[in-house]
Amino acid sequence: MALLDSALVVFSGGQDSTTCLHWALKNFKQIRALSFDYNQRHKLELDCARTICQSLNIPHAVLEFSLFQKLGGNALTDDRPIENRQNSLPNTFVPGRNLMFLTAAAAYAYKYGINHLVTGVCETDYSGYPDCRDDTIKALQVAINLGMDTRFVIHTPLMRLNKAQTVQLAVEVGAMDSLAFSHTCYEGVFPPCGVCPACILRKNGFSEAGIEDPLLKRIGADVKPT
Ligand SMILES: [Zn+2]
Repeated sequence: MALLDSALVVFSGGQDSTTCLHWALKNFKQIRALSFDYNQRHKLELDCARTICQSLNIPHAVLEFSLFQKLGGNALTDDRPIENRQNSLPNTFVPGRNLMFLTAAAAYAYKYGINHLVTGVCETDYSGYPDCRDDTIKALQVAINLGMDTRFVIHTPLMRLNKAQTVQLAVEVGAMDSLAFSHTCYEGVFPPCGVCPACILRKNGFSEAGIEDPLLKRIGADVKPT
């Protein structure tokens, strides 16, 4: 298959976007990566994003997005415990985050004449986040293209995959070495806490896929199952 020209990957430094970064390397001639600093509790992920991009020689930029900290009201930007609630969104949901990040990514890509955006959102294991749904992304693609008079395509290679399938895709696209330097833990600690919802989702994915998490292998940590 002929490679498409260039893509911008929205890259947090986490497991899903690291997999997407390698997926993009397989599908595009040139890629750039863009991260967002919104003073997230797990800001450590930005260092991981820099490390991974440097190792792959991918141009990488970080945009400041302090608005979300000013807005507050969630456990990723406020100092409050992470909660998974019954019958409502977890308090790690940051309203508007993906909508604004993708819009900002489109504006950034516009500057470079890039027409393809890649994001690791997924509606299968999506913690209930409504801005990870396929319908949301498709609607946003239309809105961005109308609003910027562009022809952006937003690629979501993980949209229909569960976490185990995402791990299998990571193997296929050669992302395992980079995943050893990725960050997932919502608590923003290293080694990962092993018990927050993000750590558990990651752990279950690797375990269901029957593959050892290269991050845990690297740090030699034995994160206990819960
Ligand atoms: Zn954790």
